[in-house]
Amino acid sequence: MKHVIVGNGPAGVVAAETLRKLDPAGSIALVGDEPEPPYSRMALPYLMMGHIAESGTHLRKDPEHFRRQRIDLVRDRVDAVDAVARRLRLASGGTLDYDRLLVATGARPVRPPIPGLELPGVHFCWTLADVRALLADAKPGARVLQLGAGFIGCIIMEALVTRGARLTIVEMGDRMVPRMMTPVAGAMIRDWCDAKGVRVLLGERIASIRREGELRAELASGGRVDADVVIVSAGVQSNIEFLRGSGVDCGAGVRVDEAMQSSVPGIFAAGDVAEAYNQATGERAMNAVQPAAVDQARIAAANMAGRHVTTRPELTLNVLDTMGLISSSFGRWWGVPGGRGVELVDRARHRYLSLQLDGDRLVGATCIGLTEHVGALRGLIEGRVPLGPWAERLLAEPLRFPEAYLARAQAAA
Ligand SMILES: Cc1cc2nc3c(=O)[nH]c(=O)nc-3n(C[C@H](O)[C@H](O)[C@H](O)COP(=O)(O)OP(=O)(O)OC[C@H]3O[C@@H](n4cnc5c(N)ncnc54)[C@H](O)[C@@H]3O)c2cc1C
Repeated sequence: MKHVIVGNGPAGVVAAETLRKLDPAGSIALVGDEPEPPYSRMALPYLMMGHIAESGTHLRKDPEHFRRQRIDLVRDRVDAVDAVARRLRLASGGTLDYDRLLVATGARPVRPPIPGLELPGVHFCWTLADVRALLADAKPGARVLQLGAGFIGCIIMEALVTRGARLTIVEMGDRMVPRMMTPVAGAMIRDWCDAKGVRVLLGERIASIRREGELRAELASGGRVDADVVIVSAGVQSNIEFLRGSGVDCGAGVRVDEAMQSSVPGIFAAGDVAEAYNQATGERAMNAVQPAAVDQARIAAANMAGRHVTTRPELTLNVLDTMGLISSSFGRWWGVPGGRGVELVDRARHRYLSLQLDGDRLVGATCIGLTEHVGALRGLIEGRVPLGPWAERLLAEPLRFPEAYLARAQAAA
């Protein structure tokens, strides 16, 4: 069996290793287009903060690891897939035949149509190469303007502040981390950032960037921000263009079933590129975080090796550390139509809890400053535990959720 994996990030690497375990005799090629050993983007902020060296980002530290596992690392770019002939066309001019194909090409940062993004001093923060260039420009004390305060934007922000940057953030949403936090929670994170000296401009856009000695960003509202460095973190889009004409059904990403198989038998997808079916919500969604990429990779690889493994109901779970303020959201944290919810806000102590119920079941939650017992929230949501009389109690006293868990979930178990 010839297994080919396109993309050598966490999803590709874990899939290759899983295949090697399950199919000792098969051939495995792992194709990646970056001029680096396989590495983790998640580790890049630690490199920016100086906590690790570049080698610390590498997914496997032993240089002989892939050779020993008989995984062929191919440095090339796949330009096209012929799903009938089961053949890949490579940018170098060659071809690669496969029996089973895994698409693990991840995503790339969105490039908003803002004049000036091509100027020196304007950076993305997505690849090792990006971080090398960024570190050369963003010296301690540099004025940094960051576009975007989403999940990855907040992680980058923390690394920049640790490096001693003086930071201004422009976010077009009405709050920070709008895809992960309720309006109140997003506002509390913003207050926290303010207190730490990060200037956050919400509901604002960068209209253009010019270089006049320094970088000068004109804002859509008419204001102006001068900076030494601009960082763009405006969301991501899947790397699916090379699949055009292959017959693989794509939406925003590669649409896969519960076995991570695409619409074309024998072609699978995992990681940031995959639009996976979520049994919990009944919807397809991209879950662009590394643990999801790795879980999906294991499932895809098992099916490529002839096993029959399907995804577990996947609970959306986001955890963010914003300069020491821990926030998390679970499941359908935004609530459901016809559902009921409760919010507990303690601005002085930077604590917040929102619970969302559908009937007598907890379907989502958002927390700030609460790290203990949040496993109970996960257990209640994932287990779809009927709360019975605890539903009313939690709406009145939401902090009693650990008790509700003990009474309803553990007792039932
Ligand atoms: C700064 C930063 C911080 C992050 N922090 C976190 C975090 O704290 N927690 C978390 O869970 N997630 C985090 N993430 C997200 C996480 O890194 C991704 O979810 C993860 O990398 C997805 O893995 P993947 O293997 O699907 O894709 P990727 O890691 O993107 O790997 C895909 C690889 O495929 C290559 N490729 C693409 N197209 C082709 C082609 N046609 N031919 C050959 N190769 C190709 C790409 O160049 C890339 O090397 C962070 C991301 C960034 C950028």
